[in-house]
Amino acid sequence: MIQLYIPLNFLGVLYREIKQSLADMEKLFSLLDQSKEIADKEHAPSLLLSAHGSPEVRFQHVNFSYEAKRQILFDVDFTIAAGSTTAVVGHSGSGKSTLSRLLFRFYDIQAGAILIDGQNILDVTQQSLRQAIGIVPQDTVLFNDTIAYNIAYGKPGASEEEVIAVAKAAYIHDFIVSLPDGYQTMVGERGLKLSGGEKQRVAIARTLLKNPVIMIFDEATSALDSKSEQMIQTQLKQIAKSRTSLVIAHRLSTIVDAQQILVMDKGTIIERGTHHQLMALAGAYAQMWERQQHSNSGTSPDAFDGIQT
Ligand code: ADP
Ligand code: MG
Repeated sequence: MIQLYIPLNFLGVLYREIKQSLADMEKLFSLLDQSKEIADKEHAPSLLLSAHGSPEVRFQHVNFSYEAKRQILFDVDFTIAAGSTTAVVGHSGSGKSTLSRLLFRFYDIQAGAILIDGQNILDVTQQSLRQAIGIVPQDTVLFNDTIAYNIAYGKPGASEEEVIAVAKAAYIHDFIVSLPDGYQTMVGERGLKLSGGEKQRVAIARTLLKNPVIMIFDEATSALDSKSEQMIQTQLKQIAKSRTSLVIAHRLSTIVDAQQILVMDKGTIIERGTHHQLMALAGAYAQMWERQQHSNSGTSPDAFDGIQT
């Protein structure tokens, strides 16, 4: 009993942590062969995707709580048009990352629906749902394995050529080949520690390999040097191109081109529109923008110190 309890409890803790960071979930799900709380319906079909491009994503009057006593999202309602980018901004704790956890179906919602090309995510297999979505999380967890493994993990069975191609596209190839063991360098907690920017580029390479139709990018809060930041932004735009994308942004300068910007506050959408529409509204978004302009040219995450995470 005790022998069984300890490892299960340990896995439980690990599971919750990883779930929280939104990273590396596929591996964990296959490890545990579950999640028990989220089950496929009997004979659930796979998510049907058009051969002609990315799907529409729709949150329909969504209410959500992690715990019974505290509601986190209140009637959240928006549509990401097929192939377009929606950015989400707002104070820390306003519910931005929760949106991505729900789209990935880490949790089930209490009211409303989440639809992908009209299909309720509750009705399709989790496997097909998660296959359709790529996530570059806020904080990428690397496995204690080679850097090649960490990239290839985006597509089990990927060839060495494919791994190198995406590493080049994510601007991490030159760094990797400069390491003594190159692609065979061990990384992670017990190996070489990568910087935040390097880890994020590994995550981008991984996502490029996965080639998902829906893309979630949870912008890192940690300061990246502006060169890394620019490279990552260039990459992100490349990945997001023609894919349905949800970008959780901390630096407003990175999302001025988004087709739709949602401003969240305490679990509700308080403003929505394009950058220009929101500026004209002269409300919460415009204030955030102003504040950003006043602190070093808007490229530093410190511009949002205390405002967003
Ligand atoms: P944001 O990304 O906007 O900073 P989150 O979506 O991560 O905010 O969190 C929204 C709210 O939900 C916060 O108040 C946070 O404390 C709470 N929350 C997040 N994860 C959990 C969890 N696993 N259990 C309970 N509450 C949570
Ligand atoms: Mg967050």
